[in-house]
Amino acid sequence: MPLTNTELAELLARQSEIESGVLVRAFRRAARNALFWPESALTLLAQNRSLVELSAIGPFIEKRVQHWIKTLESALGTIPLIRRDFSALADAKSLLKKKPEWEKSLRGDLQMHTCWSDGSGTVAAMAAAARERGYGYIAITDHSKGLKIAGGIDERALRGQASEIAETNRAISRGGGKLTVLRSIEMNLNPLGEGDMDPKSLSGLDLVLGSFHSSLRRTDDQTERYLAALRNPHIQILAHPRGRIYNFRLGLKADWARVFAEAATLDKALEIDCYPDRQDLNLTLLKLARSAGTRVSLGTDAHHPWQLEFIQLGLAAALRAKIPAKRIVNFMSTQRIKHWIARLRERSRSRQAQ
Ligand SMILES: [Zn+2]
Repeated sequence: MPLTNTELAELLARQSEIESGVLVRAFRRAARNALFWPESALTLLAQNRSLVELSAIGPFIEKRVQHWIKTLESALGTIPLIRRDFSALADAKSLLKKKPEWEKSLRGDLQMHTCWSDGSGTVAAMAAAARERGYGYIAITDHSKGLKIAGGIDERALRGQASEIAETNRAISRGGGKLTVLRSIEMNLNPLGEGDMDPKSLSGLDLVLGSFHSSLRRTDDQTERYLAALRNPHIQILAHPRGRIYNFRLGLKADWARVFAEAATLDKALEIDCYPDRQDLNLTLLKLARSAGTRVSLGTDAHHPWQLEFIQLGLAAALRAKIPAKRIVNFMSTQRIKHWIARLRERSRSRQAQ
């Protein structure tokens, strides 16, 4: 039975739990890294290459991994919830190769950060990476001011960013490029579903993501929080809905069937945050989203230009969950996304007027 990177991540995580000293962190780190290794460990070994080529693998851990593979110690048993339903990038890639037309439908990426908040790239650098991938659009979604720890931006900085985005778009079209950089934000929501930005500053954006970054360790039912967030008239996409983090936090509980039904009624989208540590929504919830007919948006949550490749984790999850192509926001053209957002805003305005 071949050992996948997904299973290897689990074995590395378990090893960290029985190690002591510096090895605890080394194995934990290797486990997290295994989720985004570009190739499978087995492929490397088959080509007589060293596993040290993979990030977070040194000679010591390499020996351990070789031992596992040699003895086929892949009897994983039950995976603990905190690490369940995560996939490794190399495994996602293998799946997508079997259905290439799926990936070809992808037009863009709808969550990423730049150096305006806690990302490392400029708007232009993210746009250049997106053009290499052949995208039609990307949404720049830096954190909003309430999330101080991530360098969240206020209304004034958001206006400043608008000029940089306009300049980037002009430079792209002058050079004959087709990419459109969309103005957006990842607005921080409090547990009541309320945002932290002046609504006037949001109305000039192409789209608005909302997400929770606080009270994420509560264990009681949070359905009301989700319904409130979806009903917030200023947001159209709920980002990393559960707030789960690989091997660190389980994420929130809710009556998800109700949450997805409400999203479908309001015609809003829930996100697959494709960041390897998040993969949120996960497969189990995506299947519920499919039954409810809810729109699904894909965002890498990239903080560096190279991380745009994480999109494949979301594409593979959507494919596994059999989300219809029509329900995937990122399969729409720029024009169709703009129409969808305009329609949602019009609806919110007429609802507020009532
Ligand atoms: Zn976030």
